[in-house]
Amino acid sequence: MSQTQTTSAYIHIPFCRGKCNYCSFISGISLDKKTGYIYSLLKEIDYYYQGEELKTLYIGGGTPSLLEVDELYKIINKFNYNTNTEITIEVNPNDITEDFAVGLKTLGINRVSMGAQSFDDKTLKLIGRRHTSSEIYESVNILKNAGFENISLDLIYGLPNQTLDMFRQDLKKVISLGVKHISLYGLKIDEGCYFYSNMPENLPNEDIQADMYLMAGEITNKNGYEHYEISNYSKPNYNSKHNTNYWKCGQYYGFGLSAHGYVDGIRYSNPTDIEKYMQNPTSREYGKFITKKEKLEERIFLGLRLYKGINIDDINNEFKIDFDEKYKNILEKYLLSGHLVKTDIGYRLSDSVETNGFLLSNIILSDFM
Ligand code: SF4
Repeated sequence: MSQTQTTSAYIHIPFCRGKCNYCSFISGISLDKKTGYIYSLLKEIDYYYQGEELKTLYIGGGTPSLLEVDELYKIINKFNYNTNTEITIEVNPNDITEDFAVGLKTLGINRVSMGAQSFDDKTLKLIGRRHTSSEIYESVNILKNAGFENISLDLIYGLPNQTLDMFRQDLKKVISLGVKHISLYGLKIDEGCYFYSNMPENLPNEDIQADMYLMAGEITNKNGYEHYEISNYSKPNYNSKHNTNYWKCGQYYGFGLSAHGYVDGIRYSNPTDIEKYMQNPTSREYGKFITKKEKLEERIFLGLRLYKGINIDDINNEFKIDFDEKYKNILEKYLLSGHLVKTDIGYRLSDSVETNGFLLSNIILSDFM
């Protein structure tokens, strides 16, 4: 029996129609395995879920929009939730038909996160996406007509051949679609993806990527979006509740292949091998009780990703430390350089153009570790 309430859950759906060239996620599993996978997933949920009323449920992937509405129903129906529960599904643009969108709405899904990535058709092809820019427009309109108002679009910057102006056009197009939430990710070429062994030409250098990031901050701000987390921008009250729970170190279940979870102080992950997972969906690959030191580091590391930053009183009370004293040297260094800003409640990374702390977050955050 769980000791504390866990009111968020993540479900991983690992299927994709093909593999995008930049993707190193556990995804792209053949759809032949879909029925067996869902059976295993439901078994895992039955075994671990304690029946809490969820505040957030997130169906991610992979490509969850490759599931049929009745398959999604079987999964969602396992959980207790109410009309305030944020239920998100990740979709790809070319899966959205009118019937599917209406079906999602009927299931109680109230937030859709779509991988747009770029509005340039040549770029979409080059990075291995299997949709066009017009399909992004069409699918957003279909979702809106079906009654979805909480739509998020993902864009990638730093793509091969992408110029500052091309990225500006992408941002303008996303904004013109009137979506409530935008996630922006710099291209990262990790081991395991196609680009890792077939490095594309004409990748924008780090300086251009930084300019793209700063420009995104300015354009989204001018258009009424709040930059509430390093990579995320939303209209007021439309931040992702599910992801905010991660950044606040809240507990969450993770169900499905390679899913991660955090329950009763234990961070765990599931097998990454589909056969292994399907044979025994209740066995964890890894599980570790988080020590107080690790928890403190997570609170700083994840908290500083948020625009509001960290609350020092909360941290001092919870960990029985004097934060200002313990991190005196690091604080002095980055307050002086301007990359860290003192707030009413603690500290946050600077979002200024001259001394942007988010751009240096890897270095600054590792100093706290
Ligand atoms: S980026 Fe998304 S759609 Fe593309 S292969 Fe990876 S998980 Fe699938």
